[in-house]
Amino acid sequence: MAGIEMKNIVKKYGDGFPAVNDVSIDVEDGEFLILVGPSGCGKSTLLRMIVGLEDISGGDMMIGGKRVNDLAPRERNLSMVFQNYALYPHLTVYENIAFPLRLANKPESEIDQKVREASKTLELDEHLERKPGNLSGGQRQRVAMGRAIVRDAEAFLFDEPLSNLDAKLRGQMRTEISRLQKRLGITTVYVTHDQTEAMTLGDRVAVLKRGVLQQHATPRELYENPANLFVAGFIGSPPMNFLPAKVDGTRVELPFGTVTIPEDKARRAQGKGLLIAGIRPEHFEDASVVDSDKVTDDSTFTSQVDVVEWLGNEAYAYIPFEAPPEVEKQLQELERDLDGESLRTQMVVSLDGASRISEGDQATIWVDARKIHLFDPATGENLT
Ligand code: ATP
Repeated sequence: MAGIEMKNIVKKYGDGFPAVNDVSIDVEDGEFLILVGPSGCGKSTLLRMIVGLEDISGGDMMIGGKRVNDLAPRERNLSMVFQNYALYPHLTVYENIAFPLRLANKPESEIDQKVREASKTLELDEHLERKPGNLSGGQRQRVAMGRAIVRDAEAFLFDEPLSNLDAKLRGQMRTEISRLQKRLGITTVYVTHDQTEAMTLGDRVAVLKRGVLQQHATPRELYENPANLFVAGFIGSPPMNFLPAKVDGTRVELPFGTVTIPEDKARRAQGKGLLIAGIRPEHFEDASVVDSDKVTDDSTFTSQVDVVEWLGNEAYAYIPFEAPPEVEKQLQELERDLDGESLRTQMVVSLDGASRISEGDQATIWVDARKIHLFDPATGENLT
């Protein structure tokens, strides 16, 4: 096994702007790294450059401390698990796992020992004589991983392995991959556009936009301290609300009223004119279900609720607002980058399932002011 170090990696196709632009990421030995971002952000290109399926235009790709830019894929000794697992349907599980060893002309005794060892680890030992067609999706995934393990690969690379599956199976497989990776402790790089996979699987997550690394951090850090507007909007479901905000001292004026934020959060936001406040839906609440000692005049506001979606344990309330022209352009751009719905006309508030707020109400909503982010509209940078 080995760590993977990407140093100032660039990929240019023709003369256009780079598909991958000066990306540096360090994947430690045994770590599970997720590459995530919207379609076209360059995540597959980056993965293909690690494996050697794509030439590197600039920078150094290091595997186990060795520069591999000029090595052919097979000389890098990495194992790629594809979307369709690429199993041979006419071969048994045993022969599918044995395949790379046969290709390498290993002796029969070594093949048998390695296949049996791997199939035990992967709990496939009872299915060795079956064909892939008679296996569940999860078992097929394990066969594909078995083939990767017997090769003693330095690292596993996955390119959207679950995107063809239905939601339920995807959930099961996610758990399975996570469990296996932890058990095997193999360095893993996993490409997805799905933020749930990113948040649940990765030790660390690298978020890309148009070829540029936006943030490389743990899932918790991405959620709690997003570096910029893009990461803030990409991580979290339903997504963070973005509202125009004027800051004066620790007072933040929002479309619905004014709240007070902690001093250290307000420091870098002074004298900057109109900013964009980011507040996650779950950091609002129906004021009537919040502890009374938390509810103060400057942490609540009253607003007309447009639509309520009740889900049992929680409810989403939609509150319309209008973004002023000063931040309209930035929010429009963000909508395009995130491929999302309108950020400029309504905000979403997540309420406890016990809340009695209903459509058309003038509702009193509490906001956890400590969780508010403030972004510079010109650069998108998080100032809090
Ligand atoms: P998706 O999730 O849609 O697969 P991605 O984030 O994996 O997207 P890439 O496939 O890495 O993105 O593509 C990054 C950019 O490079 C895109 O703008 C794409 O059009 C471009 N690109 C990818 N492959 C080629 C190629 N062979 N020739 C020219 N441009 C390419």
